[in-house]
Amino acid sequence: MKNRLLFFIISLSLALPAFSAEVTGLRFRQAPDKLRVVFDVSAEVTYDVLVLENPPRVAIDLKTSTPEASFTRILEQADFSDTSLRGVRSAVYGTHDYRMVLDLRQSMTPEVFTLKPAGPYGHRLVVDLTNEVSTQPPQIPWTPSGAPRDVIIAVDAGHGGDDPGTLGIGKKTEKEIVLSIAKRLQRHINALPGYQAVMIRTGDYYIALRKRIEMARALPADVFVSVHADAAPSKAANGITIYTLSERGAVSEETRRLADLENNSDLIGGVSEIDLRQQEDILARVLLDMSIDANRVRSNQLGAAVVSEVGKVAKLRPRPLLEAPFVVLKSPDVPSILVETGYLTNASEYRKLADGNYQERLAKAITSGIQDFIEQSPPPGTQVALAQAGS
Ligand SMILES: [Zn+2]
Repeated sequence: MKNRLLFFIISLSLALPAFSAEVTGLRFRQAPDKLRVVFDVSAEVTYDVLVLENPPRVAIDLKTSTPEASFTRILEQADFSDTSLRGVRSAVYGTHDYRMVLDLRQSMTPEVFTLKPAGPYGHRLVVDLTNEVSTQPPQIPWTPSGAPRDVIIAVDAGHGGDDPGTLGIGKKTEKEIVLSIAKRLQRHINALPGYQAVMIRTGDYYIALRKRIEMARALPADVFVSVHADAAPSKAANGITIYTLSERGAVSEETRRLADLENNSDLIGGVSEIDLRQQEDILARVLLDMSIDANRVRSNQLGAAVVSEVGKVAKLRPRPLLEAPFVVLKSPDVPSILVETGYLTNASEYRKLADGNYQERLAKAITSGIQDFIEQSPPPGTQVALAQAGS
């Protein structure tokens, strides 16, 4: 009798699936060339991916997984209009697995990867769907060969998508405020004859830090400006700081903490390890045959020019030009700065940074600084260089 009971218990436990992960949440963000769909999962999951046609769809089988009670409702209520998705269906698959089918409006190439917990997020399964005929953003207008070209300024709004950046004391997060400042910066730069600004991120989606460098180098940009906003434990901290790259050498404890925080973006915003390695390799190859020192000198000149203009319209930190090991500044051949436009943890500075008029003044001052830097030694072959030679 005892043996029979034991046998019964064993066969029951074999028949019952031991679920290892629950799917709990869903987010999606449309970028110009790709749609990112993120599923929150309670633990690391293994999965199979199937790409199917007629109609185009991607099926993902999550092994020994199950949806959390509320997840089916989350799926039903998700509004996929304005995205490349028609919808997501799901069903229990076999005895142990959970299948999600992403119905697409057109054929797309999926890249699926998992992310470990970072920032406010737990384990995640990420599905990046890329358009098959992908327009490689950003693009600059074609100029006839031989004609003088525009000076190209890459404008990078920090963070985006799953990475909100600094939360601060108000409703607006860093990613929203800096995108708004970056758009104003773009307008002011484009208003200068012979200048063209190109936005690295145009909406609320995440781009890997190294990818931002690659996008600027591909233009190719003459200047790279990354726009951010600060946070500090002390509510009194305020003022603007402009950073250039420091890879070696002593930086203060505070600066190192800030750089670690900003560099953490890739973990929170979500970059697959394969992408990260590939981008690291590309940059390592470029670094081999580049004069890093020359670019460092140029970056410091750019930083100094921007500091002097911004100081006319806004409050600077006591030491407004600093070096820090920010990944996004690691371009070996494009003069690069990162502007921390102020502290979102300071009440009066938050109010200013969230205000359109202040954003406008700041953007205009940064533009003047960039213009001063370019005019000191205009890139050869540009309209600005030609106008200077003629005058
Ligand atoms: Zn930031």
